[in-house]
Amino acid sequence: MSAALAPACSTAPLAGTAWQSPGAQASVLHAPLLQSIGVRHGFTTREGGVSSGRFASLNLGRSWGDDPANVDRNLGRVAQVSGFATERLTQVRQVHGCRVVRMDSPAQAQREADGMVTAHDLVLGVLSADCVSLLLADGEGRVAAAHAGWRGTTLGIATEAVAALATLGADVQRIRAVLGPSIGPCCFEVQQDVASVFAAHDPQVVSHRAGRTFVDLWSYNEKLLMRAGLLPEHIAAQPPCTRCDAQRFYSFRRDGANIGQHLAFIIGGSP
Ligand SMILES: [Zn+2]
Repeated sequence: MSAALAPACSTAPLAGTAWQSPGAQASVLHAPLLQSIGVRHGFTTREGGVSSGRFASLNLGRSWGDDPANVDRNLGRVAQVSGFATERLTQVRQVHGCRVVRMDSPAQAQREADGMVTAHDLVLGVLSADCVSLLLADGEGRVAAAHAGWRGTTLGIATEAVAALATLGADVQRIRAVLGPSIGPCCFEVQQDVASVFAAHDPQVVSHRAGRTFVDLWSYNEKLLMRAGLLPEHIAAQPPCTRCDAQRFYSFRRDGANIGQHLAFIIGGSP
């Protein structure tokens, strides 16, 4: 990408008030919107782990060939910084769909789904390396985590996550939702087939620059959340762009397959 086309995306290193990492560590970022209502959560970066090469260094993914012992150590680091027991981590086998499942006990990634919801003291975690991660909470112990790639986004997983929280008894107008670090409208270039899918739903999220076509996953998900009943001030939809910031984030678009993955996690139960 030439300088003339350089995106105006959020690469400022934790500047301002939007994203914070507690203490001196740079491994886990917090979103003030969730912190303000006392919800324990985090979005990992690639910094502060033990993995090497294309996985350097805080890789939390286990499907792209990193040494499992290194992933274990990285997860231990995240758990220690964040104050949770790794045995409480609950994941699904992510398949780029829109299914949100209710979790009542810790689980490894056996169930196929892209979202989870719970009111229990579980650490719901989703993996990503450009896809949007969504964390939602009502401030009363009900939480959800979802993985929204472009397919999951168009299938409406954000809507499904809100509905699942409501089924658990959440008041939709109290739900806060945060989009995690992911590929921004500055960098998410698509071909015509993908552009057409988005344009059919919302032409405003498709843009053209210098003969290339881009889609704004952030705006699309934000609109889904508002349509589901969330208040605009309860949505944080301007995360850092993973492709723009190679120091802090993995990016499938930038670096290709067989790289590390970030973990977005949120903890339910009584605050
Ligand atoms: Zn970008």
